[in-house]
Amino acid sequence: MLGKLTTWLRISGYDTVYVGDLNIMNRRKEDTFLVTSFKDRILLTRDRELYERCISSNREVIFINSNTIAEQIKELSEKGFEFRIVMDRCSVCNNLLRRPSEEEILDVLRKEGLPEDFKTRYEFWYCENCVKLYWMGSHWRNMVKFLKNIEER
Ligand SMILES: [Zn+2]
Repeated sequence: MLGKLTTWLRISGYDTVYVGDLNIMNRRKEDTFLVTSFKDRILLTRDRELYERCISSNREVIFINSNTIAEQIKELSEKGFEFRIVMDRCSVCNNLLRRPSEEEILDVLRKEGLPEDFKTRYEFWYCENCVKLYWMGSHWRNMVKFLKNIEER
């Protein structure tokens, strides 16, 4: 499972479907499903057997070697993926973000118990689906730092 990598791909603006969100019960069926579905997408996997099946079925696939998120980002960067925080897509559900209304900002701030003056301190992006706000606060700064560290390794 590549849950963390999914999050980072979405943060970087890539339209990403996560197998863990698909609710497939049977493991054998899952592999067949992944080989034959979403053919307009590239399958990322750490499963060697699944990777081989994709290759022999002419399904576009990338094998991920590492099990740490930093190394996985590095691997994909070397294949031409660009990791940067674009505030384009919800990292939780993949939905496109939009600018929220004043009311939507206040609703989420209240719901999350955050101070209302956040509204004037930050610029916001909004996921309608998750009713979630994104802004360039400390979490964002930590992510920028994380990517910078990977680049410099
Ligand atoms: Zn969302």
